[in-house]
Amino acid sequence: MMDAPRAGVYVHLPFCPYICPYCDFAKWAWDDERAAEYLRAIRGELAVARPVLARTLFFGGGTPTTYAPAVIGALIDDVRARFALPPDAEIAAEANPDPALAGRLGALHAAGVNRLSIGVQSFEPAELRVLGRRHSAADVRDIVRAAREAGFANLSLDLIFGVPGQTEASWDASLTAAVELGVEHVSCYGLTIEDGTPYATWFARDPAAFASESREAAMYALAIERLRGAGFEQYEISNWARAGFRSQHNAIYWANDPYLGLGVGAASYLEGVRSTHTRDLATYLAAASAGAPIPGDCERLEGAARLGEAIMLALRTAEGVDLTAFRERYGIDVGERYGEVVEDLVAAGVLRADAARLRLTERGRFVANDVCGAFLTG
Ligand code: SF4
Repeated sequence: MMDAPRAGVYVHLPFCPYICPYCDFAKWAWDDERAAEYLRAIRGELAVARPVLARTLFFGGGTPTTYAPAVIGALIDDVRARFALPPDAEIAAEANPDPALAGRLGALHAAGVNRLSIGVQSFEPAELRVLGRRHSAADVRDIVRAAREAGFANLSLDLIFGVPGQTEASWDASLTAAVELGVEHVSCYGLTIEDGTPYATWFARDPAAFASESREAAMYALAIERLRGAGFEQYEISNWARAGFRSQHNAIYWANDPYLGLGVGAASYLEGVRSTHTRDLATYLAAASAGAPIPGDCERLEGAARLGEAIMLALRTAEGVDLTAFRERYGIDVGERYGEVVEDLVAAGVLRADAARLRLTERGRFVANDVCGAFLTG
């Protein structure tokens, strides 16, 4: 255990009370029997997983909080025992603002969860309907209140912009409502159309129903302005936090540091190898329950691919690429290796480069994928 890598631990709990039409995650509608079987499987996987020293623990999904708090608590105990999770570590769970959650929050907090990431998406009834969400703005307010009463001091809300029918005014209203709830963290994601989802079928039939790129950009600009005005720091392309409340778990991904993912479809990055478990539930259940290796993809990132990936991740953050740290860690001078790429991006006004760092400019944040992608091919 002494030489085990320090890693973020991610546990995927894939069941939801209902399925949203835009969602492309590995998720299934809740079913008592299957959920119990999955729990046995994940504990089977945990028992034989590669040893790591856990830095953080994140329950993602799906909707992890469809499991009872006692179940989440038992998984936390397992992770503590097996991966030496420190007592004060960030333990986060994704949650949905369903009224049924309110009565569980005290037990969830007592079980050790100390950060909730709540899938609000919108405060506008019409947008919630279009997104297939069954909660209301009042439910969100109730959950935030109940979470505070339960002792949660670290709450994050997820919002989506570019929703069909959304206007800049209604997006503004959702941002304002989120700020007014006094949470510590907000994530804003542009709606993406994922292949194979009902939204992809809708988009193919009626693309005009969806926000144009320029409208999405305007909404993103509004998020930047409003959240900055409310005292949040934009510390990553899609994430804003009050001082001291950045997501510690996600910071591990952006720093290209090791993480261990458990569960169906979960990804790990350990000793330069990125692996992703199968998204086929039956295949996962069979392998994990038997304590066998989980089928999936595996790729060793080396040389330019590894460096390009690390730059891409770092550029997403407010700190950007620390050139000295990169030289020490990867043995490559980013300025020399990517001289031309950097020059072009700086000339285009999307990248700022000085002797110490590379960072996206404000304009660069709007085309972050293109800017970051230039380092993968550069
Ligand atoms: S609740 Fe979340 S994970 Fe579940 S279907 Fe909806 S978006 Fe997907």
